[in-house]
Amino acid sequence: MEKLKEIIQENFHKEKRNNITFLTGAGLSAASGIPTYRSTDGIWVKGTKYHKPEEFGTFSYFSKNQEEVWQFNLFRKGMFQKAQPNDSHKLLAKIEKLIPEEFSIITQNIDGLHQRGGNSGNKVFEIHGNMRTVRCSLECSKAVYLYPKDITIDRIDQDLTDDIWDKLECPKCGAVMRPNILWFDEYYNERLYKVDSTMRIAKNTGILIVIGTSGATTLPLELVKQTLKYGGYVLDVNLEDNNITKLIEGKKRVVSYRTTSDAFLSEFHNILKELM
Ligand SMILES: [Zn+2]
Repeated sequence: MEKLKEIIQENFHKEKRNNITFLTGAGLSAASGIPTYRSTDGIWVKGTKYHKPEEFGTFSYFSKNQEEVWQFNLFRKGMFQKAQPNDSHKLLAKIEKLIPEEFSIITQNIDGLHQRGGNSGNKVFEIHGNMRTVRCSLECSKAVYLYPKDITIDRIDQDLTDDIWDKLECPKCGAVMRPNILWFDEYYNERLYKVDSTMRIAKNTGILIVIGTSGATTLPLELVKQTLKYGGYVLDVNLEDNNITKLIEGKKRVVSYRTTSDAFLSEFHNILKELM
Protein backbone atom coordinates (compact mmCIF):
# COMPACT_ATOMS: atom_id res chain seq x y z
CA MET A 1 0.00 0.00 0.00
CA GLU A 2 1.36 3.29 -1.16
CA LYS A 3 3.64 5.06 1.31
CA LEU A 4 2.39 3.09 4.31
CA LYS A 5 5.75 1.63 5.24
CA GLU A 6 7.49 5.01 4.95
CA ILE A 7 4.87 6.67 7.14
CA ILE A 8 5.18 4.03 9.85
CA GLN A 9 8.98 4.16 9.67
CA GLU A 10 8.98 7.93 9.99
CA ASN A 11 6.74 7.67 13.04
CA PHE A 12 9.14 5.20 14.68
CA HIS A 13 11.84 7.85 14.51
CA LYS A 14 9.77 10.51 16.25
CA GLU A 15 10.48 11.05 19.93
CA LYS A 16 7.16 12.68 20.73
CA ARG A 17 3.70 12.92 19.21
CA ASN A 18 4.19 9.40 17.91
CA ASN A 19 0.97 7.75 19.09
CA ILE A 20 -0.79 5.46 16.65
CA THR A 21 -4.51 5.94 16.90
CA PHE A 22 -7.35 4.15 15.16
CA LEU A 23 -10.61 6.05 14.81
CA THR A 24 -13.30 3.48 14.06
CA GLY A 25 -16.97 3.50 13.13
CA ALA A 26 -19.84 1.28 12.14
CA GLY A 27 -18.16 0.02 8.97
CA LEU A 28 -15.78 -1.96 11.16
CA SER A 29 -18.59 -3.93 12.80
CA ALA A 30 -20.59 -4.52 9.63
CA ALA A 31 -18.79 -7.82 9.00
CA SER A 32 -19.96 -8.94 12.46
CA GLY A 33 -23.53 -8.58 11.22
CA ILE A 34 -24.32 -5.29 12.91
CA PRO A 35 -26.21 -2.98 10.56
CA THR A 36 -24.82 0.54 10.31
CA TYR A 37 -26.77 3.17 12.15
CA ARG A 38 -28.17 4.79 9.05
CA SER A 39 -28.88 1.76 6.90
CA THR A 40 -32.46 1.69 5.72
CA ASP A 41 -32.72 -2.08 5.47
CA GLY A 42 -31.75 -2.63 9.08
CA ILE A 43 -33.28 -2.36 12.48
CA TRP A 44 -34.50 1.17 11.98
CA VAL A 45 -37.48 -0.17 10.07
CA LYS A 46 -39.91 -1.03 12.76
CA GLY A 47 -43.31 -2.30 11.71
CA THR A 48 -44.54 -0.02 8.98
CA LYS A 49 -43.13 3.07 10.64
CA TYR A 50 -39.79 4.39 9.49
CA HIS A 51 -37.86 6.74 11.71
CA LYS A 52 -34.95 8.81 10.63
CA PRO A 53 -32.15 8.16 13.12
CA GLU A 54 -31.84 11.89 13.77
CA GLU A 55 -35.43 11.85 15.00
CA PHE A 56 -35.53 8.56 16.83
CA GLY A 57 -32.08 8.71 18.43
CA THR A 58 -32.77 11.76 20.55
CA PHE A 59 -33.43 12.45 24.20
CA SER A 60 -36.50 14.33 23.14
CA TYR A 61 -37.96 11.24 21.42
CA PHE A 62 -37.02 9.06 24.40
CA SER A 63 -38.78 11.35 26.85
CA LYS A 64 -42.06 10.91 24.96
CA ASN A 65 -41.65 7.25 23.86
CA GLN A 66 -39.72 5.49 26.58
CA GLU A 67 -41.03 2.01 25.88
CA GLU A 68 -40.35 2.17 22.15
CA VAL A 69 -36.80 3.43 22.65
CA TRP A 70 -36.07 0.80 25.29
CA GLN A 71 -37.50 -1.96 23.06
CA PHE A 72 -35.12 -0.87 20.32
CA ASN A 73 -32.13 -0.70 22.66
CA LEU A 74 -32.78 -3.96 24.48
CA PHE A 75 -33.25 -5.72 21.17
CA ARG A 76 -30.07 -4.14 19.86
CA LYS A 77 -28.16 -5.12 22.99
CA GLY A 78 -29.17 -8.75 22.41
CA MET A 79 -27.92 -8.47 18.84
CA PHE A 80 -24.55 -7.10 20.05
CA GLN A 81 -24.21 -9.96 22.52
CA LYS A 82 -24.77 -12.55 19.80
CA ALA A 83 -22.35 -10.86 17.36
CA GLN A 84 -18.74 -12.01 17.22
CA PRO A 85 -15.63 -9.85 16.73
CA ASN A 86 -14.46 -10.06 13.10
CA ASP A 87 -10.99 -10.14 11.54
CA SER A 88 -10.53 -6.38 11.77
CA HIS A 89 -11.21 -6.44 15.53
CA LYS A 90 -8.75 -9.29 15.93
CA LEU A 91 -6.07 -7.52 13.87
CA LEU A 92 -6.45 -4.41 16.04
CA ALA A 93 -5.85 -6.57 19.12
CA LYS A 94 -2.66 -7.96 17.52
CA ILE A 95 -1.48 -4.44 16.64
CA GLU A 96 -2.02 -3.29 20.24
CA LYS A 97 0.22 -6.15 21.44
CA LEU A 98 3.06 -4.91 19.20
CA ILE A 99 2.82 -1.24 20.27
CA PRO A 100 1.00 -1.14 23.64
CA GLU A 101 2.47 2.24 24.64
CA GLU A 102 1.58 4.15 21.49
CA PHE A 103 -1.76 2.47 20.76
CA SER A 104 -5.30 3.84 21.17
CA ILE A 105 -8.70 3.22 19.63
CA ILE A 106 -11.26 5.99 19.51
CA THR A 107 -14.56 4.48 18.47
CA GLN A 108 -18.04 5.64 17.58
CA ASN A 109 -19.26 2.09 18.07
CA ILE A 110 -21.24 1.16 21.16
CA ASP A 111 -21.18 -2.60 20.53
CA GLY A 112 -18.17 -3.42 22.74
CA LEU A 113 -16.63 -5.60 20.02
CA HIS A 114 -13.18 -3.99 20.28
CA GLN A 115 -12.85 -5.17 23.87
CA ARG A 116 -14.31 -8.57 23.07
CA GLY A 117 -11.90 -8.82 20.12
CA GLY A 118 -8.98 -8.54 22.53
CA ASN A 119 -8.18 -4.84 22.92
CA SER A 120 -7.60 -3.53 26.45
CA GLY A 121 -10.50 -1.60 27.97
CA ASN A 122 -8.27 1.35 28.88
CA LYS A 123 -7.10 1.69 25.27
CA VAL A 124 -10.62 1.97 23.84
CA PHE A 125 -12.32 5.37 24.05
CA GLU A 126 -16.05 5.10 23.32
CA ILE A 127 -17.05 8.59 22.25
CA HIS A 128 -20.70 7.70 21.70
CA GLY A 129 -21.07 5.76 24.95
CA ASN A 130 -21.63 2.04 25.35
CA MET A 131 -24.25 -0.64 25.90
CA ARG A 132 -22.71 -2.01 29.09
CA THR A 133 -24.05 0.77 31.27
CA VAL A 134 -27.17 2.84 31.97
CA ARG A 135 -27.77 6.04 33.89
CA CYS A 136 -30.66 8.03 35.34
CA SER A 137 -32.66 9.78 32.61
CA LEU A 138 -33.20 12.73 34.98
CA GLU A 139 -29.46 12.93 35.76
CA CYS A 140 -30.27 12.93 39.51
CA SER A 141 -26.64 11.95 40.10
CA LYS A 142 -23.50 11.24 38.12
CA ALA A 143 -23.77 7.50 38.81
CA VAL A 144 -23.42 5.07 35.92
CA TYR A 145 -24.72 1.53 36.50
CA LEU A 146 -24.02 -1.77 34.78
CA TYR A 147 -26.90 -2.97 32.62
CA PRO A 148 -29.42 -4.93 34.65
CA LYS A 149 -29.07 -8.67 33.95
CA ASP A 150 -31.44 -10.65 31.72
CA ILE A 151 -33.39 -7.84 30.15
CA THR A 152 -32.71 -8.30 26.46
CA ILE A 153 -35.75 -9.07 24.28
CA ASP A 154 -36.06 -11.34 21.24
CA ARG A 155 -38.37 -9.21 19.13
CA ILE A 156 -38.08 -5.49 18.66
CA ASP A 157 -41.83 -5.02 19.23
CA GLN A 158 -42.00 -7.19 22.34
CA ASP A 159 -43.80 -5.47 25.25
CA LEU A 160 -41.58 -4.83 28.23
CA THR A 161 -42.58 -6.79 31.32
CA ASP A 162 -43.06 -5.22 34.77
CA ASP A 163 -39.91 -7.03 35.81
CA ILE A 164 -37.91 -5.24 33.09
CA TRP A 165 -39.39 -1.85 34.03
CA ASP A 166 -38.47 -2.51 37.69
CA LYS A 167 -34.90 -3.25 36.68
CA LEU A 168 -34.77 -0.05 34.67
CA GLU A 169 -35.67 2.13 37.66
CA CYS A 170 -33.04 4.55 38.98
CA PRO A 171 -32.02 3.25 42.43
CA LYS A 172 -31.67 6.81 43.73
CA CYS A 173 -34.80 8.64 42.51
CA GLY A 174 -37.03 5.99 40.90
CA ALA A 175 -37.10 7.63 37.46
CA VAL A 176 -36.58 5.42 34.44
CA MET A 177 -32.98 4.91 33.44
CA ARG A 178 -31.62 5.48 29.94
CA PRO A 179 -28.90 3.87 27.85
CA ASN A 180 -25.50 5.48 28.48
CA ILE A 181 -25.15 6.57 24.86
CA LEU A 182 -24.92 9.92 23.13
CA TRP A 183 -28.09 10.98 21.35
CA PHE A 184 -28.33 13.37 18.41
CA ASP A 185 -29.71 16.25 20.47
CA GLU A 186 -26.98 15.95 23.11
CA TYR A 187 -23.39 17.17 23.39
CA TYR A 188 -20.05 15.47 23.81
CA ASN A 189 -18.44 15.87 27.23
CA GLU A 190 -15.43 14.48 29.05
CA ARG A 191 -17.19 12.67 31.90
CA LEU A 192 -19.26 10.32 29.73
CA TYR A 193 -17.74 10.56 26.26
CA LYS A 194 -14.06 11.47 26.86
CA VAL A 195 -14.00 14.44 24.52
CA ASP A 196 -10.97 16.13 26.17
CA SER A 197 -9.01 12.89 26.50
CA THR A 198 -9.51 12.03 22.85
CA MET A 199 -8.57 15.53 21.67
CA ARG A 200 -5.37 15.16 23.73
CA ILE A 201 -4.68 11.77 22.15
CA ALA A 202 -5.23 13.20 18.66
CA LYS A 203 -2.77 15.99 19.44
CA ASN A 204 -0.09 13.45 20.36
CA THR A 205 -0.80 11.16 17.43
CA GLY A 206 1.75 10.63 14.68
CA ILE A 207 -0.61 8.48 12.60
CA LEU A 208 -4.39 8.69 12.86
CA ILE A 209 -6.07 5.92 10.91
CA VAL A 210 -9.72 6.63 10.18
CA ILE A 211 -11.45 3.40 9.37
CA GLY A 212 -15.06 2.37 8.77
CA THR A 213 -16.53 5.76 9.52
CA SER A 214 -17.93 8.33 7.13
CA GLY A 215 -17.34 11.21 9.54
CA ALA A 216 -21.00 12.11 9.82
CA THR A 217 -20.64 13.44 13.37
CA THR A 218 -18.57 16.34 14.63
CA LEU A 219 -15.99 14.90 17.02
CA PRO A 220 -14.30 12.57 14.48
CA LEU A 221 -13.80 15.56 12.16
CA GLU A 222 -12.31 17.59 15.03
CA LEU A 223 -9.93 14.75 15.88
CA VAL A 224 -8.71 14.64 12.28
CA LYS A 225 -8.10 18.40 12.30
CA GLN A 226 -6.30 18.17 15.62
CA THR A 227 -3.86 15.48 14.46
CA LEU A 228 -3.08 17.42 11.26
CA LYS A 229 -2.61 20.65 13.21
CA TYR A 230 0.10 19.06 15.34
CA GLY A 231 1.96 17.46 12.46
CA GLY A 232 0.57 13.93 12.38
CA TYR A 233 -0.53 11.88 9.38
CA VAL A 234 -4.18 11.07 8.69
CA LEU A 235 -4.92 7.89 6.76
CA ASP A 236 -8.46 7.60 5.40
CA VAL A 237 -9.36 3.92 4.96
CA ASN A 238 -12.71 3.51 3.28
CA LEU A 239 -14.11 1.89 0.16
CA GLU A 240 -15.58 5.20 -0.93
CA ASP A 241 -14.97 8.93 -0.61
CA ASN A 242 -16.65 10.36 2.50
CA ASN A 243 -16.71 13.45 4.73
CA ILE A 244 -13.19 12.70 5.99
CA THR A 245 -11.93 12.59 2.39
CA LYS A 246 -13.47 15.99 1.78
CA LEU A 247 -11.93 17.41 4.93
CA ILE A 248 -8.39 16.25 4.15
CA GLU A 249 -8.45 17.02 0.44
CA GLY A 250 -5.37 18.95 -0.70
CA LYS A 251 -3.72 18.74 2.75
CA LYS A 252 -0.22 17.53 3.48
CA ARG A 253 0.42 14.30 5.34
CA VAL A 254 -2.83 12.62 4.29
CA VAL A 255 -3.38 9.44 2.28
CA SER A 256 -6.65 7.79 1.23
CA TYR A 257 -6.69 4.01 0.95
CA ARG A 258 -9.67 2.68 -0.99
CA THR A 259 -9.61 -0.81 0.45
CA THR A 260 -11.28 -2.94 3.11
CA SER A 261 -10.45 -2.60 6.78
CA ASP A 262 -9.28 -6.24 6.87
CA ALA A 263 -6.82 -5.73 4.00
CA PHE A 264 -5.47 -2.48 5.41
CA LEU A 265 -5.07 -3.71 8.99
CA SER A 266 -3.45 -6.93 7.87
CA GLU A 267 -0.88 -4.94 5.87
CA PHE A 268 -0.37 -2.47 8.74
CA HIS A 269 0.23 -5.35 11.14
CA ASN A 270 2.72 -7.02 8.77
CA ILE A 271 4.71 -3.81 8.31
CA LEU A 272 4.85 -3.19 12.07
CA LYS A 273 6.06 -6.73 12.69
CA GLU A 274 8.71 -6.39 10.03
CA LEU A 275 9.99 -3.06 11.38
CA MET A 276 10.19 -4.14 15.02
ZN1 LIG B 1 -32.33 9.17 39.32
